[in-house]
Amino acid sequence: MHKNEEIPRLFGTSGIRGPVGSKITTNFALNVGKAISTYLKGKGKVVVGYDTRTSNQMLENAICAGLMECGCDVISLGMVPTPLVGYATSRLHADAGVMITASHNPSPDNGIKVWNNDGMAYSTEQEMELENIIHTENYNKCEWDELGKKEEAYEIINLYIEELLSLVDIKKSLKVVVDCGSGAGSYLSPLLLRKAGCEVLTLNCQPDGSFPGRNPEPNADNLKDLMDVVKITGADLGIAHDGDADRMMAVDDTGKIASFDKLLALISKEMGGTIITTVDAALCMDECMSEVGGSVIRTKVGDVHVAQEIVKHKATFGGEPSGTWLHPNFCMCPDGLLSALKLVELISQGQKLSELLSEIPEYPTIREKLTCPNESKEIIMKSIEDALESCYSDVLDVNTIDGVRITFKDDSWILIRPSGTEPYIRITLEGKTEKRTEEILKVSKEFILEIMN
Ligand code: MG
Repeated sequence: MHKNEEIPRLFGTSGIRGPVGSKITTNFALNVGKAISTYLKGKGKVVVGYDTRTSNQMLENAICAGLMECGCDVISLGMVPTPLVGYATSRLHADAGVMITASHNPSPDNGIKVWNNDGMAYSTEQEMELENIIHTENYNKCEWDELGKKEEAYEIINLYIEELLSLVDIKKSLKVVVDCGSGAGSYLSPLLLRKAGCEVLTLNCQPDGSFPGRNPEPNADNLKDLMDVVKITGADLGIAHDGDADRMMAVDDTGKIASFDKLLALISKEMGGTIITTVDAALCMDECMSEVGGSVIRTKVGDVHVAQEIVKHKATFGGEPSGTWLHPNFCMCPDGLLSALKLVELISQGQKLSELLSEIPEYPTIREKLTCPNESKEIIMKSIEDALESCYSDVLDVNTIDGVRITFKDDSWILIRPSGTEPYIRITLEGKTEKRTEEILKVSKEFILEIMN
């Protein structure tokens, strides 16, 4: 834990991220490398990979230098998707993995995410240990004959491909359009789908850190080209990844982007058993899982929290509505490439994606954000947590694991949580009818605004 409460946090909900040249510099990367090596007591091996950003080789050199200076050996993978770093860390029995990526952030940003040897991201406690080492500059000192070495391990990529393909049973060839946004999935995702027997058309699959074709965030605004190409070519499916390909999003056979929640519910239903998701996931998850005799457990937003709960509850599958899916029978690192293969497997059984999604229930949803200065968020959230329940007469359950999530007797729900990075308090609300949704919003908003004033 932090020895000094004043130490500023470097890690956010998904690793360290920020603009290159200000927050993310070679000096900073060198210190992160030294801190990881020190945390590992200067012993063992660390896998390092990076996405397609322009600053990656510069930062890789710095991180590797820091790791070796403090005693750890480096296994270098080059430009690979994040899931391959998680996979290689676990299968090569390395002691940690480092991915240099800013995921879906824009081109000027970069970042660093650290993985354990079971493929699970570093916990908040582990991240705080690294922050403490950087803050105190208490790095492991090595003599000339204790310094680390660096080797390359590209052959792991073939094992990754083989193992992924062994996990799916694809019944017929589908026509699939893949849009990797010029990110880290650009080579591997189309290759895997072709090896799985699909006819593959590619869009933005030339690695390029300026992301010329689209912004690396795979959302409806950025996937218009993919939607058009799926429609024009009569493809069965469109697949999109974010910048480091740990996420997957889909476009159905009619050229429409799939609802993130419905897609997650569809695949969860297919997996069965106990499913872990986050507090912001929609009601269709619960309804789909109860249909197949399964159950849903909700946790904090962030893939590491989902991964921890999967282990705790021996769950079959876990995912966030953002398209971050975890396949525990493979690896504890979210994998957008395996997610794409799993979706292809499901559609290859016969029914079109648009038909499958139309069978998933959908209710009126509202997402709003209220401006709130960062320094007042904590105190305002505390007041909301203490008194929000008293606003309504039909509360079934109150969950405060991440913000406040209230479930009502008719299954409608509201979630109020502070944004992790921006000066907002976010309201997410799903009601069984339009009228009900508006009613809950009105009461809740009046209450929150009163507290804020
Ligand atoms: Mg990502």
